[in-house]
Amino acid sequence: MSTALPDCVDAERLAAHGGVLPGVISPARAVRVSELFRLPAPLVAELRFARDALGKIVVEGSVRGTIIAVCQRCLEPFENEIVGGIVHEIAPIGAVSDSSASVGAAENAQAFAVLALAEDEFILACPMIPLHPDGICVTPDERLKNTSGSRNPFDVLAALRQNGDT
Ligand SMILES: [Zn+2]
Repeated sequence: MSTALPDCVDAERLAAHGGVLPGVISPARAVRVSELFRLPAPLVAELRFARDALGKIVVEGSVRGTIIAVCQRCLEPFENEIVGGIVHEIAPIGAVSDSSASVGAAENAQAFAVLALAEDEFILACPMIPLHPDGICVTPDERLKNTSGSRNPFDVLAALRQNGDT
C-alpha cells in the first residue's frame, strides 16, 4: 500500500522535476520519536522538492501521525494527533565545498537524510508537556478529593483478608 520513506534521497534529482515524495515511517524506524512517545501507527510524510530562485533546493511538506503521550495533569495516557510542517533549505554544494569551516552547514543533496529531517520536524511539533484539553481531566490529588472520603486502602485490605479466610 504505502511505501516506506527512504533514509536518504537524491534531492537534486527530485528537485530537477519538482518531485513529490510520499512515504510512511514505521514506529520501529522512527527511533527517536519512539524514545519519547508510543506510536500506534506509522507516521505519514509527504515532501516536495524544488529549487528556489537562488538555486537552493527547498524541501516542503508535512509529517503527521498519532502519539500516545502521558497527560501531565491526570497522568493517564492519551492519543494526540501531531502534524509537523516541513520547510527546509539545502545549501548548494558549490557554496560549501570551498571552505571546510562551513562544513556544519553542508548537506549532501545527493544523499539527503530525509528520514532524519521528517523525524526532527515531527518531534518539534510534539508537545513538551502533553496535556488533555482544559476541563477534561483533573490531577490525581483532585480526583481523590472528589471521590468519597470513606475509601481508604485499609478497608480494601480488610476485605481481602476476609475473603482469604473463607
Ligand atoms: Zn489528562
